[in-house]
Amino acid sequence: PVAGFVRDVRADFPILATDLDGKPPVYLDNAATTQVPRPVLDAMTDYYCNDNSNVGRGIHTLGMRATDRFMRSRERARAFLNAAVASEVVFTKSTTESVNLVAEGFAGQLVSAGDEVLISGLEHHSNLLPWRRLCERTGATLKIAAVDEHGEPSLDSFRAAISERTRVIAVAHVSNVQGTVNPVREIAALGHDQGIIVVVDGAQAVAHRAVNVQEIGADFYCFSAHKMYGPHGTGVLWGKAEHLDRMDPLLLGGGMAPIASYDGPLRSMPPLRFEAGTPNIAGMVGLAAAMDYLDGLGRDAVGVHDAALAVRAAEGLRALDGVTVYGTQEPLGGIVSFNVDGVHPHDVGSHLNAVGIATRTGVHCASPFIDTLGIVGSVRASFGVYNTMDEVQLLIDTVATAEKGFWSTNHPNERFLPA
Ligand code: PMP
Repeated sequence: PVAGFVRDVRADFPILATDLDGKPPVYLDNAATTQVPRPVLDAMTDYYCNDNSNVGRGIHTLGMRATDRFMRSRERARAFLNAAVASEVVFTKSTTESVNLVAEGFAGQLVSAGDEVLISGLEHHSNLLPWRRLCERTGATLKIAAVDEHGEPSLDSFRAAISERTRVIAVAHVSNVQGTVNPVREIAALGHDQGIIVVVDGAQAVAHRAVNVQEIGADFYCFSAHKMYGPHGTGVLWGKAEHLDRMDPLLLGGGMAPIASYDGPLRSMPPLRFEAGTPNIAGMVGLAAAMDYLDGLGRDAVGVHDAALAVRAAEGLRALDGVTVYGTQEPLGGIVSFNVDGVHPHDVGSHLNAVGIATRTGVHCASPFIDTLGIVGSVRASFGVYNTMDEVQLLIDTVATAEKGFWSTNHPNERFLPA
């Protein structure tokens, strides 16, 4: 590691010691999913071995223990985000669920025909499609804050796209394609000056920087645990208490209200109002353990480490003949997106995979943005706590030997590419 972590973290990740056809994994697909360290695995195993039960229901000892661990996880997430109170933390299964919940349950009450919802030109489908559906359903217009020719948005592009009909701005904190950091604090201030609700998709941010929701000042902030060394199927939506008070749930059912009736009013308080059904309790225990793990290393130190690897990768790849690296900003999100002239990104990905390097190739669930860049897709290398400069060098050396002019048309993932 380059950031001076006090210890080598690689030994914490069992998967890094596995064997991929005789080669160790060189895992550079952290923006899709990070690997899970032993303390997070142990926390989940310990929960199942010692405290497993349902939560908020039984009065028996295991039920209370499980409930206690679940509630401690919520408090852990509150502290992780520096939220004012734990009841502003809603547990979801993912960033995707969180955005859908805000779009349908909250923004649906604000937006009507002729209004506008503003997103940026670099959004992941999860922060695009829920807003598109809301606009189609209500007769509102989806507006896009344009990115420049490098795929980078500016505060001015948001300023220019806001009108007196804008009701919501939804924006990624960090781009999942090229790691661009959006000025979310300034965007929140800009929106609030005009009474606009601001929603931040923090999926690519929380593993690389300390996030303080009160300082950012947006109305909602969300992320997934599986991109920050936690388990799949767990996510967080933070929302200001006054907004959660009026937000409607996506799902109805057990656990969301103490009492239900055949026709009377449903009295249900946040955050449980949004968590009907048995939650992913072990997952939330793992999420809290992942927060402990990251904070143990120091989130800003992790960000420096990941960015240093990305900077070196970008430099090394740019220096190669016929390689284009996208974006001009320093890759503070620990992500580098590139292409080799005349070689399909999937072919570069297969070439890298042959030596054990995992990258993501294609449109990265951000196809309008990829279209804006005028490419069919890209190769994305994304870095995490366990990656090393040696791995970066292997990436650069292997890209250098990608066979130029080879464009296979027979990709298993071809159907995901725009025609
Ligand atoms: N937004 C961004 C910026 C992302 O990178 C991702 C995951 N690729 C998502 C949203 C969706 O996250 P999830 O699949 O965990 O819901």
